[in-house]
Amino acid sequence: MTINLYSLSQDGLTDLLKSWGEPAFRAKQLWSWLYENPVASFDAMTNLSKPLRTRLQNETTLGVLEMVAEQSSHDGTLKRLYRLDDGQLIESVVMPYDDDRRTACISTQAGCAMGCVFCATGQMGFARHLTAAEIIEQAVRFARDLHGQGERLSNVVLMGMGEPFHNYDASVTAIRRLMSDLGIGARHITVSTVGLVPQIRRFAGEGLQVKLAISLHAATDAERTALLPINKRWPLADLMAACREYVEKSGRRITFEWAAIQGKNDSLEQAHTLGGLLKGMLCHVNIIPLNPTGGYGLGPSAAERIEQFIAILDSYGVSATVRVRRGIDIDAGCGQLKANVILRGSSANTPDSAL
Ligand code: SAH
Ligand code: SF4
Repeated sequence: MTINLYSLSQDGLTDLLKSWGEPAFRAKQLWSWLYENPVASFDAMTNLSKPLRTRLQNETTLGVLEMVAEQSSHDGTLKRLYRLDDGQLIESVVMPYDDDRRTACISTQAGCAMGCVFCATGQMGFARHLTAAEIIEQAVRFARDLHGQGERLSNVVLMGMGEPFHNYDASVTAIRRLMSDLGIGARHITVSTVGLVPQIRRFAGEGLQVKLAISLHAATDAERTALLPINKRWPLADLMAACREYVEKSGRRITFEWAAIQGKNDSLEQAHTLGGLLKGMLCHVNIIPLNPTGGYGLGPSAAERIEQFIAILDSYGVSATVRVRRGIDIDAGCGQLKANVILRGSSANTPDSAL
């Protein structure tokens, strides 16, 4: 069976090459070709012997993602569509910023089971979890291409297709390996969750210094359940208690995401309710003007309304900023990623059966 080298940790690589009778330093050299100075072919691994390269070529693979499409936005955002080895399709995005930051937005599932009404991924349904290797490889692919251009992938957000905490183990393994293998600093990694309470509690105990973002979008249960069905399972009181526990345990600030939807969650009264909910908490609100998706009719709040909303939050001592929209012309913005996933009968879960 072919071994995907990106499924192995550094120790795993060492064990593999040891079983082939290679000295430990060879594993370090191979690791370097995978992550430090990533290359796309075994032939490029010039300090490995020809017989070793041939064996690697025959028995292993440099990842499993087959790129089937690539689109670039006028703002420099790049979106890629990959086919996995079972035919599932996923997307990932890289965004360049003026200050030299290069941020990859990667997927953790093919589809998503959470069914948030305004999200293109949620509108597709759930096909399957990605493996840690499939998650990491999306970042590696961008890192490799940036490296070739003399640039460096500096940040990674787990905000692509899927709910990272529904695929908890693979997502946390991927986060650890983004740090240890790809050298992305913990503070340059963000994981965003729709609000799975037990996993938020568990994550608080991981001792990771990465950023945690929570998709809030509404400040009362009735309004939040209408947008995010998972709120029925984990209502606001439970979610906020878990968030407070996370802040206490980790000492880290939480980011709350708020997709600003015109006429839905952008009234001044809702701003006051949100201010009251978050008052006194170590947190920040990230406002994302709603991006268009086929299955949802409403549009983004007006800029002026968002300013008023932010001013009201400020009066509660709650800081808020607007997330700059990126890649909207190529459907690469928040909540716009979709690919025709293959739904297999009962694996197309509803939120209740999925958890
Ligand atoms: N599943 C995770 C992470 C992926 S979505 C989560 O839900 O948190 C990343 C962010 O984009 C989330 O805050 C999500 O609620 C938001 N989002 C989804 N659809 C959107 C849309 N159409 N416009 C703006 N933001 C959207
Ligand atoms: Fe899934 Fe996040 Fe989209 Fe909700 S917003 S459907 S949790 S990807």
